[in-house]
Amino acid sequence: MASISRGATGIIRLSRRRVQTSGGRSLWLREALDGGDSYDYPQFEGATKTDVCIIGGGFTGLWTALEIKRIAPETDVTLLEADICGAGASGRNGGFALTWWAHFQHLVELCGPEEAVKLGQRAQRAVQQIGEFCERHQIADAFQMQGWVWAATNAQQVGDWEQTVKLLERFGVAPYEPRSRAQIAELAGSAQHLDGLFEPISAAVQPARLARALARAAHNAGVRIHEHSQVASIEHGQHTSVVLARGSVNADQVVLAANAWAAQIPEIGAGLVVVASDVIATVPVPERLAAIGMNRGVCVSDSRRLVNYYRPTLDGRMVFGKGGGTLAYANAIGRNFDHPGRRAAAIRSQLVRTYPSLWDVAIADSWSGPIDYSLSGMPFFVRLRDAPSVLVCAGFSGDGVGPSRLAGEVLAEMATGLGDGDLPRALRTVPSAPLPPEPLRYLGGRAVRAAIARKERAEDLHMRPGPITKLLAGLDPTSSADRGSERVAGPDEH
Ligand SMILES: Cc1cc2nc3c(=O)[nH]c(=O)nc-3n(C[C@H](O)[C@H](O)[C@H](O)COP(=O)(O)OP(=O)(O)OC[C@H]3O[C@@H](n4cnc5c(N)ncnc54)[C@H](O)[C@@H]3O)c2cc1C
Repeated sequence: MASISRGATGIIRLSRRRVQTSGGRSLWLREALDGGDSYDYPQFEGATKTDVCIIGGGFTGLWTALEIKRIAPETDVTLLEADICGAGASGRNGGFALTWWAHFQHLVELCGPEEAVKLGQRAQRAVQQIGEFCERHQIADAFQMQGWVWAATNAQQVGDWEQTVKLLERFGVAPYEPRSRAQIAELAGSAQHLDGLFEPISAAVQPARLARALARAAHNAGVRIHEHSQVASIEHGQHTSVVLARGSVNADQVVLAANAWAAQIPEIGAGLVVVASDVIATVPVPERLAAIGMNRGVCVSDSRRLVNYYRPTLDGRMVFGKGGGTLAYANAIGRNFDHPGRRAAAIRSQLVRTYPSLWDVAIADSWSGPIDYSLSGMPFFVRLRDAPSVLVCAGFSGDGVGPSRLAGEVLAEMATGLGDGDLPRALRTVPSAPLPPEPLRYLGGRAVRAAIARKERAEDLHMRPGPITKLLAGLDPTSSADRGSERVAGPDEH
C-alpha cells in the first residue's frame, strides 16, 4: 500500500482491485478495434506535471478533455485510463443517446421548473452535438437519429408517461410526437408494444466507435492520453498528486471521470448504488428485422423498473439489454460485471416475448457493465470535501451517453476555472438516503430486486403481485432513476 508522500495531508484510494475491463469487451468495442481504430496510447511511466489530470477514458473523461482544449487550448491535459479508452460503460452500453425529457417530472422535483426546462434543453442539445461530432470525424454512420420509443409491453405499463407529458405541456415543451397505438407497434416492430410515446430527437450510436473517435480527437488536440494506466490513489495537500504503479502526475486539478468505479470513495459511494446491466446481441438477420420494420435504427425501452431496452445494429442484429443485474457488494466491481452469465438466457426469453418472430435467431454475443445509480436519479458534480482540487462526476444512472456530452462542458468549465457549469444545487451535491451499512445494504438490495422481478413477471401474466412483493418492490432507493435506456434496480431474475 502506498505511503503518503511529503507535503500530502490526505490520500484518496481508488479501486484496490485491478480495473480489469478487458474481460468484458463488447461487440461494439471489438467492431471498433477491428475497424482499424486499434491505436494504442502509451502506458504511463515516470513523473510529470500537468494542469488538469483526468482519470477515466470513457465519454465523460474524453468529452471533458476535448472541451478543455476548446475553451482553454493552452491548458495541459493528461488523461489516464486503466484499460483502453471505451472499455468501460462507454463501450458497452445500448447506444441510446437520449435527452432528459423523460426525467422531466423528476427534474422539476429536484430543481424547479425553470432549471428543469433549461437542463432538458441542454441535454437535447448534447444529443445534437454528438451527431455533429460524428459527422465531423468521419463516423457519421455511428450516429442515427431515428428516435426513441418509450413503450408499454404489458397493460400495467400503459400510460406510465402521462404525468410527465402533462407536466411538459404545462411548461410549453413538446418533445414527443403523437402516434397511435398501431403506429407505436409498427415503429417498435411488434404487437407486444401496446402503446407508447415517440421522441424523434433521440439517436442510436455505435458507442465504442464514438469513444475511440473521441480519444483520437483528444489526442490530435494535444491531450496526453495513457492507456493501461490505472490510478491507485490521489494524494492531496500542498499539491495534488495522482499515483500510479509506475509513477505519478502532479496536477493543479484532477477530474475523476471513473463512473461506477468512483463509488469506492466513501463520500461518493454514499450517493450511489452500483448494479450491472446486461446485453445480448443476435447474429445478423437483416431480412428478418426488415420484415418486422425494426431495421430503421429506432431505439425502444419498455416501462418496467428492470427495463428492457433494444435496437437494431447497422449489420442487422438485434441488441437487447436488461437492467437490474448483479448488485455490487460494498459498491465493489468484480468480474461478474463483465458477463451476464446465466442471466443471458432470461434476457433471451424477454427478447422472444417482445419479438416472437425472432424465436429461432441465435445469440452471438453477450456482455455486461456497471451502472452508477445515483440516489437522486441524476448525475452530480462535486469537489471532494477534503480535496477541493479533485472534481468528481458520477451518477448517470444508466442514461449517460447523451448527458456525458453535457458533463464534459460542465467539468471543463469547473476544471479551468472559466465557469461553474451553470448547474442547480441539486446536481452539485452528493445525494443521500438512509441506507443501512453492509451486509444489510446488499442483502436488502437483493430482496428488493427479487420483489421487483416477481412483480414484473406477475404483470406480464396479467396477475396481481402479492402485498409483500409490492411493499418490498416499493422500497427501491433508486426508484427516481426512472425512464430511459437503462433503469435500475434490482434483481437477477433467477
Ligand atoms: C450495459 C450498459 C448499458 C447502458 N446503456 C445505456 C444507453 O443505452 N444509453 C445511455 O445513455 N446510457 C447507457 N448506459 C450508461 C452509459 O454507458 C454511461 O453512463 C456512460 O458511458 C458513462 O460514461 P463514463 O465516461 O462516465 O464512464 P465509463 O465509460 O465507465 O468510463 C470510466 C472509465 O474509467 C476507467 N477507470 C476506472 N477506475 C480507474 C482508475 N483507478 N484509473 C484509471 N482509469 C479508471 C474505466 O476503465 C473506464 O474506462 C449503459 C451502461 C451499461 C453498463
